[in-house]
Amino acid sequence: MTTALDELVARSRRIGEDPTLVVYGGGNTSAKGTIVDHLGREQRVMWVKGSGADLRGSSESDYPALRLDDLLPLRTFEEMSDQEMTELVSRALLDPSARRPSIETLLHAFLPFTHIDHVHADAICALTNHADGPRVAREALGEGFAYVDWMRPGFTLSKVVGDLASYEGVVLAHHGLVTWGATSDECWDRTDRTVQRARDFINDQRLRVDAGPSASDMPDEEIERLLLHLRGALCKTGRRVLRVDGRLRAVADRSDVDAVVAGGVSSADHMLRIKPRSVVVRSSESAASDIAAYAGDYVAYVARNADLMPRGYSAHDPMPKVALVPGLGAVTTGATQREAEVAADIALHTHQVAATVADRFGAPEPLDEVETFRFDYWPMELYKLTLRPTAPDLAGAIVVVTGAASGIGRGIALELATRGASLVLADLDGTGLTEVAAHIAESGAAQPELVAGDQTDESVVEETVRRAVRVFGGLDGAVINAGIGVTGNLDDLTLDQWESGLRINLTSGFLLTRAALRVLKEQAMGGSLVYIASKNAFGPGAGFGAYSVSKAGMVQLMRIAALEGGKHGVRANAINPDAVFDHSRLWDDGLREERAAAHGIKPEELEDFYAARNILGRRVTTRDVAQTAAFLLSEASSRTTGAVIPVDGGVAGAFPR
Ligand code: ZN
Repeated sequence: MTTALDELVARSRRIGEDPTLVVYGGGNTSAKGTIVDHLGREQRVMWVKGSGADLRGSSESDYPALRLDDLLPLRTFEEMSDQEMTELVSRALLDPSARRPSIETLLHAFLPFTHIDHVHADAICALTNHADGPRVAREALGEGFAYVDWMRPGFTLSKVVGDLASYEGVVLAHHGLVTWGATSDECWDRTDRTVQRARDFINDQRLRVDAGPSASDMPDEEIERLLLHLRGALCKTGRRVLRVDGRLRAVADRSDVDAVVAGGVSSADHMLRIKPRSVVVRSSESAASDIAAYAGDYVAYVARNADLMPRGYSAHDPMPKVALVPGLGAVTTGATQREAEVAADIALHTHQVAATVADRFGAPEPLDEVETFRFDYWPMELYKLTLRPTAPDLAGAIVVVTGAASGIGRGIALELATRGASLVLADLDGTGLTEVAAHIAESGAAQPELVAGDQTDESVVEETVRRAVRVFGGLDGAVINAGIGVTGNLDDLTLDQWESGLRINLTSGFLLTRAALRVLKEQAMGGSLVYIASKNAFGPGAGFGAYSVSKAGMVQLMRIAALEGGKHGVRANAINPDAVFDHSRLWDDGLREERAAAHGIKPEELEDFYAARNILGRRVTTRDVAQTAAFLLSEASSRTTGAVIPVDGGVAGAFPR
């Protein structure tokens, strides 16, 4: 038998699939019915969406059940604070451990209908977000719909809407629509038909302005410079990634883009993810000053409204989440690309609504400043942020790792991914890279960008760094790790063997250092270069000359990078690992046999031999090296440059000097 709850979940998922109705946690739905409780008593209940839950893909547990007999008497209260409301509503929960019900729970309870939808539809917001909202909404939807001016959700709005049950539905200015039905189908039909009527009405209006595309394509080089300048300015209050979104090009190119942005967010709840306003940035030249001006305005707005700041809360980060760039689209920010994509999805709807208003009804109007501030700092809304996991220590950091398909590079990639870094992974071995990426995907960490190619090739190295800029918006560091093992006594080595050791282990490191330094200087927010050298740099081995010389050279390269990068805040440090075997290909192709023979042992005894040789008597793993690399990339090592850290279990003959 299909229950009211089943119907509610199915209808809600259907609504959630349509981003013109709701985006990311917006809107809520309810159904009323009876259930038999744990003592066999029949109870009248209402299921309503939990606060912060997403209608799309929602399931039964997202709809806590509340006893109507404990909710309906609340309507007799004259007034009620948000705090009181939250406490009283939670007392009506059948299961006290269920998720917190929506802020709009009482609105659903006070309307006497079995099924209720509340959506933040773009078309409805386009009807209301301007000076002529009430008239336009009435003309579009007819007298059957009540119109309620902006009011923050809560007890008062619930009572106001509860008194409007004789209508077909309620339009909430700067917010959305409430509709209902005796059955779930009837409810869905009314939501669908009402929004469609609004869309049709809008399309029938004549275009008032011709704000058609005015900007030509931004050239590639300018895009890269713009991203670096933007990121340098935005990261003054913490690292974040940037993401370019071409879907907002049509809005960004409008001649009235400043007026569109001034229209603010379409539905108030959007400001939780994209702030009350976006910024317009026109070129790499102006990027830094545009961001500084935005941040200054935001700080001033908080200062003007400081009296309204709820106790225990402090100002949000003053940086914008969305920049509209004529000739490009939008650049949005987040701790990960995914978060930046969510911001772009919301910005797309918010700015398209404002553009529609400008086209059809005149200047889009935002909420006034005081109401904006009250919503921006509303504990009931900010509660949703507490439902998210806290960001790991390298969230927002962008790092290139070479030689990432196996061994130490692979271990570093996995470690940095779990710490929240956005990664560009490079290796000659494309298949290995794909496997590492799959491993990262399984862990739930952000997807890395992959570059399969030869890091001794200048153009591949340039592309590796460019990818970090184009995909993630900049660069914070590089782990220079690609390398090979070359064995043979000096009198046996061919010139080719000697040169390939230097080219792959050292010259590739120079190329990446050069490319990274250029980008880091342009971005002007410092950076960290980590060189994976070797215990052999200080403690060379006979028969291992080409390798040992290249690694000693790498330590010297690191020192020069530290000297030259210092005034730009770029740090450079090296790690000297020894005898790391797990997931490594270094020991293939005869190196294992070679080294075993050199030490007079069997090849399979090599791991234990190396472990026994070091002071701590322990095997060294890729994870040990990776944790040191993560430290050198993090703020925890912000005063360390030009250093070498051994991760070798302690080898006296290779102590740094
Ligand atoms: Zn709402």
